[in-house]
Amino acid sequence: MMFRNPILHCRDCGAKVSYRLPDDGDTKLRAICTDCHTVHYENPLNVVGTVPFWGPDGEQVLLCLRKIEPRKGKWTLPAGFMELGETTAQGAHRETVEEAGAQIELGELFTLMNVARVGQVHLYYRARLLSADFNPGYETIEARLFTEEQIPWEEIAFRTVRETLERYFADRRCGQFAFHTVDID
Ligand code: ZN
Repeated sequence: MMFRNPILHCRDCGAKVSYRLPDDGDTKLRAICTDCHTVHYENPLNVVGTVPFWGPDGEQVLLCLRKIEPRKGKWTLPAGFMELGETTAQGAHRETVEEAGAQIELGELFTLMNVARVGQVHLYYRARLLSADFNPGYETIEARLFTEEQIPWEEIAFRTVRETLERYFADRRCGQFAFHTVDID
């Protein structure tokens, strides 16, 4: 199955690649350079983000209104693709600063969601907001706090965000936060 656009050229030498089985017994088609024979493996990407909460009991959560595609005009938790050279926690913190301009203290890892269909793993940390002043970046129209009753459930950008928010408010009602692994199909 192809998850992203196929690789066309070798990252090492620029020659054309062809998708074929490597000679080493590998059973998956790989992008192999027709000139230098480098095998280019394609693996899942990590998306990292936070559930920024506010108030003594964390009754409000920060959502960002997306200014860019995909899902422009829908609400999301701050999250994005992890960069090379950073940890998952650093990436989640960075995305929260970039998208919401929020000051946070990063907490525990809260959800791990496999989105195998598109070759992604999404990780959300709980994060205590240190201020209710936000300064949204270029990807965000507006950053705003919502109680559970105010969450625009029909206007949430991504299934992984909805799944994470549902678990956040369910755990909050129980008075205890757990770690959740979810397989999205
Ligand atoms: Zn090559």
